[in-house]
Amino acid sequence: MESDTSVIQPSLLQLHFDTSVDGQYVLDPEADVFVKVNPAMCELLGYTREQLVEARRPVATSSLVHNDDRELVARHREAVREPGDSGVTRFRIVRPDGEVRHLEVRFTLIRYMRRLVQVGSARDVSQQVKLEIKLRNESEFNRELTLAAQQSAKDAQRKSLEVLEANTRVGALSEVLRAIPVLTKRLLELTNLNDVFKETALTMVNDAQFSSCAVLLRDEQGKLEVKYANPFRSTTSIQVKETPLIGRLLSGEEELMVDETGTHFASIRAGNSLRGLLQVGLPKNLQRFYAGHKPIQQSIKDLVTTIADFIGVVISDHENLERIRQQSRMDKLTGLFNRRVFEEQLTIEFRRALRYERDLSLLIMDIDDFKKVNDTYGHQQGDLVLEQIGNLLADSFRDLDTVCRYGGEEICVILPETVGEAARSKAEHIRRKVAELAVPVIDSPGRVLNITVSVGVACISKGTTNEEQLLREADRALYWVKNNGKNRVKLSDA
Ligand code: GH3
Ligand code: MG
Ligand code: MG
Repeated sequence: MESDTSVIQPSLLQLHFDTSVDGQYVLDPEADVFVKVNPAMCELLGYTREQLVEARRPVATSSLVHNDDRELVARHREAVREPGDSGVTRFRIVRPDGEVRHLEVRFTLIRYMRRLVQVGSARDVSQQVKLEIKLRNESEFNRELTLAAQQSAKDAQRKSLEVLEANTRVGALSEVLRAIPVLTKRLLELTNLNDVFKETALTMVNDAQFSSCAVLLRDEQGKLEVKYANPFRSTTSIQVKETPLIGRLLSGEEELMVDETGTHFASIRAGNSLRGLLQVGLPKNLQRFYAGHKPIQQSIKDLVTTIADFIGVVISDHENLERIRQQSRMDKLTGLFNRRVFEEQLTIEFRRALRYERDLSLLIMDIDDFKKVNDTYGHQQGDLVLEQIGNLLADSFRDLDTVCRYGGEEICVILPETVGEAARSKAEHIRRKVAELAVPVIDSPGRVLNITVSVGVACISKGTTNEEQLLREADRALYWVKNNGKNRVKLSDA
């Protein structure tokens, strides 16, 4: 009975590190080199892992920083000196192709193998910085207008009105822009996808002052479904009719469309597929500027696209994590749960049964003379037997029951709310079904193998004090069957 739990945690972390959409790294500040980088970090910096880490002379991390930002980065490194110190900084990097990108880097100093290393994640914020610069330019324009107004007494009234308008415009836009970092930070903290959609719709209306916001995703049939809409009353008015405009977005022809009421629709992509749309009503405070001002139009479009892209990233992050979580619970060969799940679930069910005085039974099933199958027909044939028994068992129990591969050719089933006699007769039924199973012999068309199993059954009783005891009783019953001709079921009478 070998356990695979010891390898799950580190490999999970490694997988998360490798698949993270953010750049992740470990850096030795003293040596000025990376110790570890994930693919996203390489992609961000434009270098290969070989160049950054494995080469005999890896690229110096400080050399990646834009000349004008080097002092800033050096100052930051100086300020963070003690283990546990952390910081957030934004600076520019220059990629080997000359492209300049803005990064936001969050890092912490830790002690690792007697060295102080910086562990951090980096995100490309170029898009956001561009929007901020645009906003600042609007303010410049605004100041020029003010000067002009002072110079010309004649135009004073008209100009000052323009100034007022530009001011309002900038104010309104900045209110909208301020909501992005707030929103993205909140979304990253949420563990449930529906909360992500809800938070987006709430923040876009309550903080960014848009008039409405809805997240629409395709269901399994590909039909659009409202995941969350704000304000709520819009849910009914958001008829998810596939208008030609929506059709063009869903076909991938367009990324963003604006309808005649000023409502923006941006496609949401996760992984390589189009998942749905973000629908955003034009903010009231920008409505009267929108038509006449290209920069405002562009800013709102950029913003809606950014949020839609971000939702896509969050969706794929969640899906990746869910997939990893599922994989870490399953046994690949049989498709049943693995031993870790068995142990966790047995503890949960045992406590529940004890607390509420409910019944609980446990089956341990072991394939008879399985070694002979391997020895006679090869390991691959043995695997096929395990796979087919796994399939049979997966379809034979209630949703309430937990069917797990405990070890090599042993399978355990937890049966809540089941008395010993019922569990015994269920086990007997399964035993017969396994015996009827005809497993094809690999490479011998027409030939089949007949397999039998022995089953030990135990049921919780007044004397059962812990789950290990229940497991031992079932195991003892199984042992008894193995010594008494196999291919039988035995209910423990302990
Ligand atoms: P018994 O009836 O007493 O249970 O005899 P047995 O031969 O089934 O039991 P034994 O414990 O001697 O052998 C179990 C065998 O199961 C040994 C091992 O090679 C095989 N086994 C364990 N895991 C796997 C697997 O994943 N694939 C294959 N093909 N064989 C496996
Ligand atoms: Mg066996
Ligand atoms: Mg065995």
